[in-house]
Amino acid sequence: MKNFILTAEGVNKTFDGFKAISDLNFYMDEGELRTVIGPNGAGKTTFLDLITGRSKPDAGTIQFGRESTELTKLNEYQIYRLGIGRKFQTPTVYVDHTVFENILLSMEGSRGVFSALFARVTPAQRERIHDILKTVGLGEKIDAKAGSLAHGQKQWLEIGMLLAQNAKLLLVDEPAAGMTDEETAKTGELLLSLAGRHSIIVIEHDMVFVRQIAKKVTVLHQGTILCEGSVDEVQNNERVIEVYLGRKHHHN
Ligand code: ADP
Ligand code: MG
Repeated sequence: MKNFILTAEGVNKTFDGFKAISDLNFYMDEGELRTVIGPNGAGKTTFLDLITGRSKPDAGTIQFGRESTELTKLNEYQIYRLGIGRKFQTPTVYVDHTVFENILLSMEGSRGVFSALFARVTPAQRERIHDILKTVGLGEKIDAKAGSLAHGQKQWLEIGMLLAQNAKLLLVDEPAAGMTDEETAKTGELLLSLAGRHSIIVIEHDMVFVRQIAKKVTVLHQGTILCEGSVDEVQNNERVIEVYLGRKHHHN
């Protein structure tokens, strides 16, 4: 039996009469790496807002995990505690703290910033921090101030912070934005390496990047799913081509 990590059904969200999300149905398997694409204003970020409890849908259900926990009834903090981590487009790291401290501060069970920084770090915690930094490719930056990292490195640190938080579902909004080609490729490898053990939704515009990471792609348009499939399938889909190129059908 397949386990869905996320099930969204009949989801609607209106802002001042404008339907940002419209009858959205979305199903994602546990361990899946799903890429969501779609033109500007398609509702991609709004969808993440609804998952994380940043905003509430007008209608519909969003369920998470094996217990099918209804997310629309929970607040942002409760959803975060369930194991849903979000990476915003702009990295939000503690710039005046070291890479090590950033991971420590994100670790589950940390008792607030002050005690986390001044309590003794256990050997187990230290080992876990090292593992996470190795995973995200920042092992050599462990003592560097987060503020001194390059843009791409900050993004990887933030992904490391999601791992430290024990997120089962990672929501990653446009990670390649502002990255060099090399950073983008490394980010793709990282996300691919995390899939399976984690479920990941990546929102992305950069089709080179999408091609590198994508297994199943969901195309969002006007708040609803236009099509789903492999990169080739969606790129060859008539409706997708129409939406992206604005091509009109000729009716005789
Ligand atoms: P995407 O991320 O796909 O570019 P968004 O989810 O950011 O699209 O936005 C979808 C639509 O909803 C846009 O037209 C946007 O202006 C509108 N929207 C999103 N958030 C709000 C909000 N808080 N208030 C009003 N309109 C919003
Ligand atoms: Mg967006």
